[in-house]
Amino acid sequence: MVTVLDADYVVVGAGAVGMAFTDALVDHADVTVALVDRRHGPGGHWLDAYPFVQLHQASAFYGVASTLLGGGRIQQDGPERGLHERATAPEIRDYYDRVLRDRLLATRRVTFHPGTEHSQVRPRPGARVVDTTYLSPMVPATTPPPFAVAAEASVVPVNRLADLGGAPSQYVVVGSGKTATDACVWLLGEGTDPDDICWIRPREPWMLNRAVVQPDPAVFIGMAADTMEAATVAATPDDLFLDLEDRGIMLRIDRAVTPTMAKTPTLATWELDLLRTIEHVVRLGHLERVEPGRLLLEHGEVSVARDAVVVHCAASGLPRRPPLPIWAPDAIRPQPIRSGFPCFGAALAGFVEATVDGDAEKNRLCPSSPFSDTPADWAAMQVLGGRAARAFSSDPAIRSWAGGVSLNLARVPPDRQGDADVVAATDRFTAAVGPGLARLAELAGIAQARR
Ligand SMILES: Cc1cc2nc3c(=O)[nH]c(=O)nc-3n(C[C@H](O)[C@H](O)[C@H](O)COP(=O)(O)OP(=O)(O)OC[C@H]3O[C@@H](n4cnc5c(N)ncnc54)[C@H](O)[C@@H]3O)c2cc1C
Repeated sequence: MVTVLDADYVVVGAGAVGMAFTDALVDHADVTVALVDRRHGPGGHWLDAYPFVQLHQASAFYGVASTLLGGGRIQQDGPERGLHERATAPEIRDYYDRVLRDRLLATRRVTFHPGTEHSQVRPRPGARVVDTTYLSPMVPATTPPPFAVAAEASVVPVNRLADLGGAPSQYVVVGSGKTATDACVWLLGEGTDPDDICWIRPREPWMLNRAVVQPDPAVFIGMAADTMEAATVAATPDDLFLDLEDRGIMLRIDRAVTPTMAKTPTLATWELDLLRTIEHVVRLGHLERVEPGRLLLEHGEVSVARDAVVVHCAASGLPRRPPLPIWAPDAIRPQPIRSGFPCFGAALAGFVEATVDGDAEKNRLCPSSPFSDTPADWAAMQVLGGRAARAFSSDPAIRSWAGGVSLNLARVPPDRQGDADVVAATDRFTAAVGPGLARLAELAGIAQARR
């Protein structure tokens, strides 16, 4: 049966994007929203997260605009002492429960419909659909392994790693992304001998040094300035990444191999040191089949222990799909606007939906930008994200809103505006951004913006 929902907006998906969009929309417009999700609660993929996952970035950059995630605290001990806190999965789930209850439902203008498929509901005439599923991530808990598994071979999703009940003589970690690095770091932290880990890395990843992606404008704008300065003189995308590595911005696990993957999650240097202790790395392309004692890959095969447990960390994560106009006649599809930050993009789209008239104008102010996969994509993401930031910042009301939102990692809080380090970083960025973006556009093979 299809139910007609009596609300101005039907938001499909109560993950990070649906929650950020709805929060900003109802904060700035007197409208009603029906929030629909097939899952039982808000939080999206965090409801299926593996037990040892944390945000890979600072908590302050994640969540909804009205409510800071965490306390804005700096870690006082441990290997990330001095860096901002990063929420765990239970903290994120608790945060979204509180935002739903205390911010959204408390307005009495939002209703939540858990356990509900999009196909089970219809908007009332004149209402708008907000489809937040276009760029939802694929995670191992809900995505089958992209390789065949013979009978008697032992393959588990990363979520099962913490409760295997008895250690095998070998772990085979499959994947090159953030989840695989989390699995390796967790195993090593639990005391697993690095020689008992075989790591299938179909591609080598570039990762951002977490120390330079911090809610501190001197640090963040300084990193952006370095990036633009490096871009200005880069001969190729690879050349750019190697320069960024020298500047302490990008990290790679094996300095003998030039990475081809640039989804660029953040990594701390203590994690990098641990990952480098794993020497049994298999670079024979994608895994195609697991048999007891044997792995068949695109470009060859390797022997493993007969009792080896293969850990599936090979879901594709953030999808590679072309950027679309966010506002279309059939639906609003929130996507990143400033490079690669889904929560800020969704909150910004919610604010603009609440305060700006006309879809053409909203799309002009908020062009979408894609996630990246390769170094050339990453250059494109910077160009499109940079152009988008220039477009929305040209509007005084949006600029003022964005300046007060901690999700906006480029903002300078009022108490830091005269700070000498911030001024110096901003001056460097201002000098380098024009030539840097122009060169990045050439490296990415995309047209120059008309002046
Ligand atoms: C392990 C991990 C760590 C990450 N860490 C960070 C970080 O530190 N910082 C950062 O900025 N980003 C991070 N990301 C990326 C970021 O979390 C995601 O991009 C973001 O959470 C995606 O939110 P979403 O709402 O698009 O997707 P989801 O969380 O997948 O939510 C989409 C929701 O839509 C629902 N849905 C889908 N289809 C339908 C349908 N047909 N009917 C009804 N409901 C439907 C789903 O049930 C789901 O709840 C991380 C991602 C992962 C996987």
